[in-house]
Amino acid sequence: MKKISAIIPMYNEEKVVKECYKRMTNVLTNLNDYDYEIVFIDDGSKDKTFNLLQEIAILDTKVKIISFTRNFGHQSAVIAGLKVVDGECAIIIDADLQDPPELIPDMIKLWEAGNKIIYGKRKKRKGESIFKISSAKIFYKTLNMLADVEIPRDTGDFRLVDKEAINVINKMPEHNKFLRGLWSWTGFKQVPFEYERDKRFAGKTKYPFRKMMKLAQDGIIGFSTKPLKIVGALGMISIIISIIILIYALLSYIFKLNNLEPGWTSIMVTITLFAGVQLVSLWVISEYIGRIYDESKSRPQYIINKIINIK
Ligand code: UDP
Ligand code: MG
Repeated sequence: MKKISAIIPMYNEEKVVKECYKRMTNVLTNLNDYDYEIVFIDDGSKDKTFNLLQEIAILDTKVKIISFTRNFGHQSAVIAGLKVVDGECAIIIDADLQDPPELIPDMIKLWEAGNKIIYGKRKKRKGESIFKISSAKIFYKTLNMLADVEIPRDTGDFRLVDKEAINVINKMPEHNKFLRGLWSWTGFKQVPFEYERDKRFAGKTKYPFRKMMKLAQDGIIGFSTKPLKIVGALGMISIIISIIILIYALLSYIFKLNNLEPGWTSIMVTITLFAGVQLVSLWVISEYIGRIYDESKSRPQYIINKIINIK
């Protein structure tokens, strides 16, 4: 019998563990033609998440657990899950039930029709702050302006992916993987699946501004070298401005247009302008160098503390 895998990252989700297991199992047991497994990744939770998962896994061997030594981040958790699943396809879904598991059967139908990647596309987001919604909008706009591949808007990590695509992703040695972009990058046939995003079942978001920024940077830097070119353009513009200022100063000196107090303003303007451009340039370049440094250290992306029900 063919098997379907589910990958569910969890960070401090003690309030949703049971409900998540219940609803997932409910949906998956009703798939008559398929066997299934649910892989939970405990991303270094500090609450009872792991204990609760363990209690479930003792009774239900279809539930598998990978537990990290500390919090390595959502993307690392999903990547760890991708490494161990052995289904014909895998569903990546958040633990908080914002993406309703009940949609899975319909996604499977699209997969059976020959699509390799079915990505959830959010029609509506219930119970999310205006800040979150608008920052996501700005992020996807910028990303698509800069990125070298088309990255679908309004999508998160909720998707069904075929084994073929998983194998490709698993072989990539990259560290700062931005999965949402990489799925598109693989080029496998992908289709959107529109749905309404629910409220979080319980608990708070585990994606504070800091983590969102890191994700956005991984996306932009991982999929584009355009920021480097923008830096170059900024440099050129400021050089042109400085030449104009220079010519203006020379002319006003030659023709004694006005008795410039020996140019305090222009000097200040030039200096600050250049300092600004240089610092911005350095920052962008150092972001890239930082990633290169990260990759070259080739440290593992996560450390596993415990594994349960996985051979
Ligand atoms: N998550 C994780 N590690 C982290 C942050 C989040 O494994 O460092 C998990 C979290 O438990 C949830 C999923 O990633 O299952 C998405 O997080 P969340 O729902 O908080 O993000 P949001 O929906 O608010 O963007
Ligand atoms: Mg959520």
